[in-house]
Amino acid sequence: MKISAIIVAAGSGKRFGGKKQFEVIEGKSIIELTAEKILTCGRIREIVLVLPDEDVARFRRSCTKKLHIISGGATRQHSVYNGLKTLSADTDIVLVHDGVRPLVNRRIIADTIEGAIKFGAVVAGVRVKDTVKAVSPSGAVESTPDRNSLYLAQTPQAFRYSLIMDAYEKAFEDDYYSTDDSALVERLGARVKIVPGDYKNIKITTKEDIALTNKFFCDENDVWPRKGKNRKNMNDMKIGFGYDIHKFVKGKPLYLGGVKIPFSMGLLAHSDGDVLLHAVCDSMLGATGLGDIGKHFPTKDKKYKNISSLKLLETVDGLIRESGYETINIDTMIVAKEPKIAPYIEQMQAAISKVLKTKNISIKATTNEGIGDIGKGKAICAHAVCALKRFAQPVKQR
Ligand code: ZN
Repeated sequence: MKISAIIVAAGSGKRFGGKKQFEVIEGKSIIELTAEKILTCGRIREIVLVLPDEDVARFRRSCTKKLHIISGGATRQHSVYNGLKTLSADTDIVLVHDGVRPLVNRRIIADTIEGAIKFGAVVAGVRVKDTVKAVSPSGAVESTPDRNSLYLAQTPQAFRYSLIMDAYEKAFEDDYYSTDDSALVERLGARVKIVPGDYKNIKITTKEDIALTNKFFCDENDVWPRKGKNRKNMNDMKIGFGYDIHKFVKGKPLYLGGVKIPFSMGLLAHSDGDVLLHAVCDSMLGATGLGDIGKHFPTKDKKYKNISSLKLLETVDGLIRESGYETINIDTMIVAKEPKIAPYIEQMQAAISKVLKTKNISIKATTNEGIGDIGKGKAICAHAVCALKRFAQPVKQR
């Protein structure tokens, strides 16, 4: 049994404002993600990828996979037909799939193949959840079809090769056009069966769909084995720890957690001496393996003299975001005899939240019970633990 597939992605994306099949999600174009899903299904022997004519040469060069890349036609129907004509004559079953449905899964692909072997023609589909209204051009509701008999057609759709070829030839003969392959088969009077699709198997049509697809790819429940250097574990979390201590000194304002606190002394440091923010920065740098605060902001460098440590935190936040992480939680402990920290905790949380864009900032304080230099009020130290989470790569046009 020879099973082949056609991935159709020849659209010009006029409504979308660009060719959406080439938008990048997770470091790969949508069409690559879709093709990967079809390629990793062992049963499919021959895959034809139909692209806009002007992109064929470029894609052939960059594509290392065993895809047969051809040019599309004026309409989707012409494009699929080009694909059908390209397939070897000994093809038994052909699966047709939209290039902009990268969230298709193995189960749907396997079910449509099985379905086509058994019934000759199948469509992946999902039940309609909302009530459907038939509406006249003037906007008046004409009828409310029974929802129980309604399905939304997706792809893949799979057919016996001879059947789908007949359907296409007849359609062109009759000058009949449709964007749905199974509709052409239905015209022949052949039976088409529904196999369960998946609500996640969306067709990327709008910018919102791209954001949603990005989200689904990050979803831990949507695990698809991905190989190569672009492979990423989107559920990756990192924990970091930071510690800092500064001595009290006269004639300097006291800053803690980005807040200026009225007190008779400040903390001795090259910067503003914000021991809490330094501990937080160190925990974030540590979590991402980027070293420590001294490496990024050397005390020798004049530009950091008396600098607000909120600026340093901002820079550190930028560094961890560049490496693909964002802060989801910070827990800290300030150890100080004086001043009283509690009245300023909310302000400190707000200042840190604003930079790190998370509300999960915990600040606690203790006095060290009179023990040691900290207990006697000669210095303040701070401990911080952070949790970072990998976030989706920003979507950008390749
Ligand atoms: Zn410090």
